[in-house]
Amino acid sequence: MDVSHAGRSPHDEYPLEGPSLHLNPRERQDVWKQVGDAIESFTADLPRLRISPSGTPDQVRALLAGIDFRRPMAPADAVAFVVGGLRDHQVHCGHPSYFGLFNPAAATMGVAADALVAAFNPQLAAWSHAPFPCEVEELMTRELAARIGYGPGAGGSFTAGGAESNHMAVLMALRHAFPTFREHGVRSLPGQPTLYVSPEGHHSVVKAARFCGLGDASVRTVTTDEHGRARPAALAQQVESDRQRGDLPFLVVATAGTTSAGFIDPIRGLADVATRTHLWLHTDAAWAGAAALVPDLKPHFDGLERSDSLSIDAHKWLSVPMAAGVFLTRHRDLMESAFGVDATYMPVSSRERIVEPHRVSIQWTRRFIGLKLFLTLLVAGWEGYESMIRNMVRLGSTLRARLEARDWRVVNATPLPVVCFQNAHQGSGSPAEDARAIVERVQARGQAWVSLVELGGRILAIRACISNFRNDEHSIDVLMDELETARSQADLPPLRA
Ligand SMILES: *Cc1c(COP(=O)(O)O)cnc(C)c1O
Repeated sequence: MDVSHAGRSPHDEYPLEGPSLHLNPRERQDVWKQVGDAIESFTADLPRLRISPSGTPDQVRALLAGIDFRRPMAPADAVAFVVGGLRDHQVHCGHPSYFGLFNPAAATMGVAADALVAAFNPQLAAWSHAPFPCEVEELMTRELAARIGYGPGAGGSFTAGGAESNHMAVLMALRHAFPTFREHGVRSLPGQPTLYVSPEGHHSVVKAARFCGLGDASVRTVTTDEHGRARPAALAQQVESDRQRGDLPFLVVATAGTTSAGFIDPIRGLADVATRTHLWLHTDAAWAGAAALVPDLKPHFDGLERSDSLSIDAHKWLSVPMAAGVFLTRHRDLMESAFGVDATYMPVSSRERIVEPHRVSIQWTRRFIGLKLFLTLLVAGWEGYESMIRNMVRLGSTLRARLEARDWRVVNATPLPVVCFQNAHQGSGSPAEDARAIVERVQARGQAWVSLVELGGRILAIRACISNFRNDEHSIDVLMDELETARSQADLPPLRA
């Protein structure tokens, strides 16, 4: 239903039926049916929807301005109102020609899982409140850990995403390096704890450092090679000189698949330095970690199993709805000492071999995050996931080749399906200005979606990423046409200020 709601109150059309949190069985069935139908028609219509939202901020606010919570709505009207808003006013990341950030197309079984989780609403803070969900998550973390090459001492926890997983890593590393940290915090330390990450590493690492009381300046950038990968020798030197100054290096974060350009740090080389210099090695594989689960792509992540901890987002390349991240570690036994606190009101399981989830997580009340991955995997199998990921890697190569054949210059080198490129044709402005104008036009036309990226702090390029399982050959045709159209208009003044 593509209704425009602007300018009228939703209550005008939706008379009051009798307000309550309770709905009767008949009303509930109607809601489930309506929601199911709305999800199906959205999914079926996706290829024909505009990818980018229409409407100015004022139009979107006007839509909501008519809401009056003193006048409850009928369920069907409320659902229809929300469905209309969602269809018209968001970027549709699941669209086949969305080549944007790592936002997934949500797999059907993952969507079903989230609906079931909302309805059954298990509480995963305590094992005894949710034995089946807790054991499903346990099975999933074991399964992922085994695919990574971790041994039996591995453990993990589902998180809201890569930012939370990276935060866990910083906390684990602090707890491990500094015995007084847990009781007395950073101020008990005789110097400034420092951590190391490449300049292309994710900014959530900076946030994590700040949240741990270390400050942004505790994050030191490691020099990279000509392909944007952290140089282990540079790390070793930097750790050495920081130690001489009295700083307390404790952690290096390897990025396996940088967000901008898909660079993969040399994990084995960083692991060697980390071992020698007593740093915790965390690998942030938030999006590309999915490829490390595919046996023939795993060699690109050489040394991954030596990481002390690791982030993989299920809500990126594993195509389940947000929010679903995974934190894994080789040192399961250290998790409780980093995250556990005793709370007498919490139910405790007297059984052996039970870990209370709230003791190994930043979260307390926790949603059953792992079900989306479990249910999707039950139906797709690893085989289904592997062929999807291999296919996207192949499409990445196709896109690269087609761009180069049409006078675009690819500026990043990676085996992963993220392609950063510039106009190599005579443009009106610099390649960076062209990139900006072209991205703006492609997004405004709404038929495909690419983003603008800065590499090495300078080069502005167009970025197209294939991590949406609906991307196919046809979507690449669409993208190539859209890029061509935008390029032909790139000498026009900018569309938006
Ligand atoms: C996306 C991303 C993150 C952040 O993950 P969220 O799930 O958005 O919290 C961290 N690291 C990398 C490399 C990423 O691509």
